[in-house]
Amino acid sequence: MTSYTLPSFVRPHAFINGEWVHSSSTFPVFNPATATKICDVSDVTNDDVMRAISSAYDAQKKWANMLVSERATILNKWRDLIIEHKELLAELMTVEQGKPLAEARAEIGNADSIHWSVEESYRLYGKIIPELRENVRAEITHEPVGVVAAITPWNFPHSMITRKVAPALAAGCAVVLKPAEDTPLCALALAALAHQAGVPSGVFNVVSCSRARVADVGNILTTHEKIRKVSFTGSTPVGKMIMANCAGTVKNISLELGGNAPFIVFESADLDRAVDGIMASKFRNAGQTCICANRVYIADKIYDQMVTKLKDKIKNMVVGDGRDAGTILGPLINDKALAKVSAILKDARDKGAVVTEPCTAPTDGGYFKSPVLVESVSAHMMIASEEIFGPLLALYRFDDENQVIAAANDTQFGLAAYFYTKDPLQAHRVGQKLEYGMIGCNTPLIVDSGLPFGGRKESGIGREGGPDSLHEFMEIKYIVSQFAA
Ligand code: NAD
Repeated sequence: MTSYTLPSFVRPHAFINGEWVHSSSTFPVFNPATATKICDVSDVTNDDVMRAISSAYDAQKKWANMLVSERATILNKWRDLIIEHKELLAELMTVEQGKPLAEARAEIGNADSIHWSVEESYRLYGKIIPELRENVRAEITHEPVGVVAAITPWNFPHSMITRKVAPALAAGCAVVLKPAEDTPLCALALAALAHQAGVPSGVFNVVSCSRARVADVGNILTTHEKIRKVSFTGSTPVGKMIMANCAGTVKNISLELGGNAPFIVFESADLDRAVDGIMASKFRNAGQTCICANRVYIADKIYDQMVTKLKDKIKNMVVGDGRDAGTILGPLINDKALAKVSAILKDARDKGAVVTEPCTAPTDGGYFKSPVLVESVSAHMMIASEEIFGPLLALYRFDDENQVIAAANDTQFGLAAYFYTKDPLQAHRVGQKLEYGMIGCNTPLIVDSGLPFGGRKESGIGREGGPDSLHEFMEIKYIVSQFAA
């Protein structure tokens, strides 16, 4: 086991009003690859959260009144510092979250949502309606919503934060961030660097809290009258609770929730590209992504060929500590996640699924799960309807286009879907019929700061990234003016 020391700019405490805030109560954060403690982190009190909200409220108006170019200079500096400390941040992420270093580096490279948000902040144009009535014109503008509560998950502990905080700050809002209890350190590192870059005290606060405290802290953030927007990424059940809590003070909300992505391989597909697409979509972050291929549908005529190719690929995967050179698949986030994925697999086995395990995972130390293929899946198995969030590749056969589209759409989720075909007419047809927010046709790479990430149905409300990303953190206002008596 390699030892680990936190980067010098990170402290294991909450970050409120530009200062590290110690708490007498702490919670442990673990390295999922070794199941050993990295450090204890301050567990905020309700008073700490109230103070974070007041600081954000007090700081926000001044931040919003700065020139766009002044805010842009500070945010660009934040991005520069992130890039400068990329290796330290990547190692921290691997130690805290488990993903292989290469994936951690790639996620940090996605500090591009800061760049994107800064660029868009120069283009927050309004509109003039010149002749509303005789001598009357109207001016429509956009103003920052105010104080934003951001609540984020552990699976992308860097990009899930920059994707919310960067557009919020660029729009002139202040943020109180509650990171996931498994990965508070990545969030604290980002806040420390933002402060170092010149983000004023109170504009970006992080309230770290334990699992035991999350309901109380969440309750304050989603009911406090000074919070005007809640931006949440996480599971659908928690998202629904947050939505209900926000109703009391009619807050703006954005919800990025669970997925159940279909991945369809049609007969005409380039099979090798489809195999690479499945591997990337299914096994990135050990299968713990909301846009992971959850159900892989393969056309009957190419099914056996595809399965052979997939087994060959999986055979060569190396499961282990993300800091070890050569590791392709890291551990799951914690013991609960490992137990849940193991239960889904056992349920499938017990109900008659055929499971193949082409490579093995370490059996001691961390929360490792070997990647497996699961065939002969039927509807009454958990694996057919649950978000798997682990390296179980569930395969289904199909022989009819309409049937597979109906099966793909038959879910309460509508986040991401993928399909592979070389037939351009089929590509057009299928793309139109899939009821999802994001679709990859012949590619598993569907995320970019320039695209509006988000889903339909119970996968959420609102979008992150893309041309309108700052508007998620802004209110519309208009002024009607009469110019003559
Ligand atoms: P989770 O819902 O358990 O937790 C997400 C966040 O909500 C964490 O910070 C957690 O502490 C907090 N939380 C939990 N209970 C709360 C409460 N009562 N009040 C306020 N906050 C509360 O989800 P998770 O296990 O951390 O993440 C996995 C889920 O997130 C999966 O369902 C995945 O699909 C989803 N996800 C979605 C997207 C997306 O963009 N659509 C991205 C990543 C993850």
